[in-house]
Amino acid sequence: MTMTNKIDEILNKKTKFIFITGGVVSSLGKGLASASLASVLQSRGFKVRLRKLDPYLNVDPGTMSPYQHGEVFVTDDGTEADLDLGHYERFSGVPAKRTDSVTTGIIYQRVIDKERHGDYLGATIQVVPHVTNEIKDFIVSDITDEDFVLCEIGGTVGDIEGQPYLEAIRQLAYEMGRSRMMFIHVTLLPYIPAAGELKTKPTQHSVKKLQEYGIQPDMLLCRTQIEMPANEKRKLALFCNVREENVIQALDAQSIYQVPINYSREGMDEAVCRYFGITDAKPADLSKWEHIVNVLKNPEGTVTIGVVGKYTQLLEAYKSLNEALVHGGIANNYKVKIKWIDSEKLESEDAEEELSDVSGILVPGGFGQRGTEGKIKAIKYAREHKVPFLGICFGMQMAVIETMRNVAGIKNAGTTEFSQNCEPVVGLMTEWDKDGAKQIRHKDGDLGGTMRLGAYECVLAKDSKVAQIYGKEHISERHRHRYEVNIKYEPILNKSSMSIVGRSPDGKLPEIVEIKEHPWFIGVQFHPELKSKPFAPHPLFVSFVKASIDNSRLL
Ligand code: GLN
Repeated sequence: MTMTNKIDEILNKKTKFIFITGGVVSSLGKGLASASLASVLQSRGFKVRLRKLDPYLNVDPGTMSPYQHGEVFVTDDGTEADLDLGHYERFSGVPAKRTDSVTTGIIYQRVIDKERHGDYLGATIQVVPHVTNEIKDFIVSDITDEDFVLCEIGGTVGDIEGQPYLEAIRQLAYEMGRSRMMFIHVTLLPYIPAAGELKTKPTQHSVKKLQEYGIQPDMLLCRTQIEMPANEKRKLALFCNVREENVIQALDAQSIYQVPINYSREGMDEAVCRYFGITDAKPADLSKWEHIVNVLKNPEGTVTIGVVGKYTQLLEAYKSLNEALVHGGIANNYKVKIKWIDSEKLESEDAEEELSDVSGILVPGGFGQRGTEGKIKAIKYAREHKVPFLGICFGMQMAVIETMRNVAGIKNAGTTEFSQNCEPVVGLMTEWDKDGAKQIRHKDGDLGGTMRLGAYECVLAKDSKVAQIYGKEHISERHRHRYEVNIKYEPILNKSSMSIVGRSPDGKLPEIVEIKEHPWFIGVQFHPELKSKPFAPHPLFVSFVKASIDNSRLL
């Protein structure tokens, strides 16, 4: 018995599955490709859902270094997930859930839990069928009336870790029927300048590898830096057993927002409809993407914003932040140029010199002590020179510490994240409220999945700038942190002209601070960048970019 009960259930529904695999090299942008296709299908009236299957052994990327994995994306329900889920949300607008992201770590954890519980009734536990069944259950679970579920398989075909996933989707296609499944393989056509040619051989080999696993791709999405000649398309179709009109060119794009438009132009969505025998779908409407691309091509001006952080060598670590700033720019018809400033270097540099050419300063989230004094230096500069400032999570904590040290005069103000020998203005949170239930943590507890994670309500002060910016007094934003500003310091902060203008509904946790005498100085304990979308920019970013533009006019 290989068919799981969940597959029986899904057989009665209309949902179709599209699997996206990658070949030849990593970093082909499968996440963006999946998100773009989903968005085009959406514009044709289909309901979509996007999922990521990550073959690594970590339970989630929450404990991985940003240098390894880039940003950790957080969903409303508190899942720490791959940054591709960020692309999915930004392009489709569909909030991702815990059931949209899985890793081999989770799959094995589930299998072992069941084994310990005796659920397998004495069987020998094996990759096939036990691990593959668990993967299949994940793929088909929590589906309601979606027309399409797009599942991206992380890694590259041929990786050892990826094999159980390929076996699982092969089985699914067999069990559910090929008419409900489509396999899209994303590959690279390297350009050899000396020969002046695009090479198809790596793609041919990669497809052969897929075929070894019993998977015949139905479409090839070929990343290329130059136009793909018709004869190369024909060649790939013939050697890879794919219909010629399903060999789709994915030409390098200037902006990621151009990608859905390009794919549709190349006939990708039409090919998907054709594959599934859908003849009555409305045509794609990509006007919202066209508008965005237009603004990016013809902005009214450019504004430079300095982002002072620790991971400036690896911009993937600030993916959502980068995007949210671009969105804030689009809303103002401006191009945002980000000046990445290494907070560690700033410690020994002249802050005035480094920061004098930026019109706004942003200190993003972060962990650990390295580079913090550079961040505090940048915040001091922003406060004193009246440069618009946005502090996010760690950035807000550092802003509070800066005011405590340099305005209130408490020189040893600090956070217990690095030392117990400080005035603990920011301290470890061991108890808080989540939807009426108490959350309890211990100092030496596990690190994975134990932060204050996901969406929390926040109440804004009536007369605050943030209430004006949001246009309401009750908001919900996503969190990912272990430490928190201690509210008992509120009277000192108030005397130092910093106000707490957003708090948890029980009033205990400070969520937002503002300096009223400053043109734009806001620190938030949550991550607004995670909810910003190109066609629904986050109000804080829209307002921060606007303030920076206004400031640039004064420069
Ligand atoms: N390190 C800080 C904490 O855990 C801030 C985390 C963050 O910026 N995401 O509270």
